[in-house]
Amino acid sequence: MRDTLKHRGMRNKLADVLIAKGIVDSNVLEAIRKVPRHLFMDSSFEGHAYQDKAFPIAADQTISQPYTVAFQSELLQVEPGHKVLEIGTGSGYQTAVLLQLKAKVYTIERQLELFKKTNLFFKKMGYRPKKVIFGDGYKGLPQAAPFDSIIVTAGAPEVPKALLSQLKIGGRLVIPVGADEQIMTLFIRNSEKEFEKKELGAFRFVPLLEDKN
Ligand code: SAH
Repeated sequence: MRDTLKHRGMRNKLADVLIAKGIVDSNVLEAIRKVPRHLFMDSSFEGHAYQDKAFPIAADQTISQPYTVAFQSELLQVEPGHKVLEIGTGSGYQTAVLLQLKAKVYTIERQLELFKKTNLFFKKMGYRPKKVIFGDGYKGLPQAAPFDSIIVTAGAPEVPKALLSQLKIGGRLVIPVGADEQIMTLFIRNSEKEFEKKELGAFRFVPLLEDKN
C-alpha cells in the first residue's frame, strides 16, 4: 500500500470531522493530517481507514477510533522532547501520532503477535520510538521513569498504582477506567503525594489485561 494525494485528502476531511467533534489542538490535528492511518490496518479495511471508527487488527484487538486518539493526545499536552509512556501499542497508530508530536515514546504491548508485527512495521516505515517493549503495561516501565505523561489505550478495570508513581511532578496520566464502558480519566500529579483527577466522558476500549500473552 502507498500513501497518495487521495489519502491525504481523506485525512484532511477526517481532521475536519474531529474539529466538528471538539478537537482544538492544532498540533494534534496536524498529526492526524500527517499519519497515514490506512497503512496501520489490514489492506481489506483500507477503504474505511479515514472514517472516524475503530477497526479490528491482529490478535482480536482494535485500532482506536481517530477521535479517541486525538482526544487522548490532546489531554497529554505533549511538548517536543517529552518522555511519554504508552500502554497498548496495538497497531502503532497512536504511537505514530505521539512521534509526530515530537515525543520520545516508550510503548508496551502484551500480545506477542502484535508486538512483533508492529515492531517490524515501525522499522519498515522509519518510525523510531525510544523503545518498543513486549511486556505487561500494568507495571509501567520503572527503568525509564519518570514520564512527562502516560497514555493507556485499553480499558482499565482499575488505575494501576505503578503508573501514577512513574509520573513526573506536573505529569499527566490519561486512562480509560471501567469494565464494559470506560470513563476517560486524567490524573495530574501536583506533588509527590497529590493527584488531581478529572473525568472526561464515556468511551469503549478493549480490556487492559494482566501479564503477557
Ligand atoms: N494504541 C493502539 C490501541 C490498540 S487496542 C492503536 O492505536 O492501535 C489496545 C492494546 O492494548 C491491544 O493491542 C492490547 O493487546 C493491549 N494491552 C492490553 N492490556 C495490556 C497490558 N497490560 N500491557 C500492554 N498492552 C496491553
